[in-house]
This record gives sequence, C-alpha cells and structure tokens, in this order.
Amino acid sequence: MLPEPIKMLIDALSRLPGVGPKTASRLVFFLLRTSEETLVQTLAEALLNLRAGTDYCPTCFNIMEAGRSQCKVCADPERIATLVCVVEEPLDVLALERTSGFQGKYHVLQGALSPIEGVGPEDLRIAELLKRVQKDAVSEVILATNPSMEGDATAMYLRQQLQPFDVRVTRLARGLPMGGDLEYADQNTLLRALMGRQEMS
Ligand SMILES: [Zn+2]
Repeated sequence: MLPEPIKMLIDALSRLPGVGPKTASRLVFFLLRTSEETLVQTLAEALLNLRAGTDYCPTCFNIMEAGRSQCKVCADPERIATLVCVVEEPLDVLALERTSGFQGKYHVLQGALSPIEGVGPEDLRIAELLKRVQKDAVSEVILATNPSMEGDATAMYLRQQLQPFDVRVTRLARGLPMGGDLEYADQNTLLRALMGRQEMS
C-alpha cells in the first residue's frame, strides 16, 4: 500500500533496538511532513558519517574520532595508567567521566558475557585487557560492568583471569540499581559506588 521509499525507511528503523513498526511509522511520517528543511539532510549526513567518522581506540577500545592515534583519555598524561576501570560500553565511560571522580584509564569490553546471546570471552576485549595489565604494570583493575546477571558473570570471569597477575581487583560497591545499566545511574550514586569499591575475593 505504501510507496516503496516509505516502506524501506520504516523497515530499516524497525530493526533498531526499542523501535517497533509503530514508532518507525510515526518517525517516517514526521520526517515527510516536517517543515524543518535541514533535518532530513542533517540526519542523512550524520548517518553516513557515523561509521566513517569514528574509530575504536587501539588501547582501551572506547569510541573516538577517526584519524586519532588514541582516545583523549589514553592520550592524557595526567591520567593514571596503572589504574584501569573496565566497563561494558562507551556510554559507561561517559557516565563515569560525568562524575569527575575517576583519574585512571578505561578498558571497554564492548559487551558482556551472555551464553543466551552467544557472547563468549573471545567476543570481548578480554585478551587485550590481560595484555595491557602486564604491559603497563597495572596495579588496580576496577570491574565496573553493569549490576546485572551478565555484568556480574563477566566480573567473576575477569576476576579469575586476572588471578595470575600481581594486581588488585575491585568491584563497584553495591547500591546501583540491580539489572540497570551503569549509564542510567545518577552521578552521585555512581560516584559512591566507585569510591566504595571493594576487593573481589
Ligand atoms: Zn583509549
């Protein structure tokens, strides 16, 4: 019934997380009718630049602008290289940076272990973390994976993997809403969890 260009965009948007066919249709018809002339153009260009304009930091695997040799945190000589905070996603780095309470560096796993979704250790940046702990003589690894089943399982696994190294391994304090994402925690709660981090046995 619908013209092909409309159907195509609805189908594509429907495949995004959290967007069903209904929301997708609403968005498409909004874009068709909007009087904001530049919106469609800006959106199209931003989408095309999304992949081309970004890259992953070769040290911490956080997202960064393409063309840089390292992300801003890794390149900052003021940050403590021997203190590494391990998170699941780039958005978690953003949340922790907002607290202004962390002076170390990050390591972005790019996910969490999930047998149900078929995500194993080799799908995450775990080997790179272990190499980094050795190479930079890291003294403390803070496991800041999400307070969820997957996040906890990932932290436990990392704890095991880090056992052979001479490194302190801590986990964010309890108090973050269980099952929630780090990125949604408010700044104070997150800062408290960071400050109250505890040795993982
Ligand atoms: Zn980096």
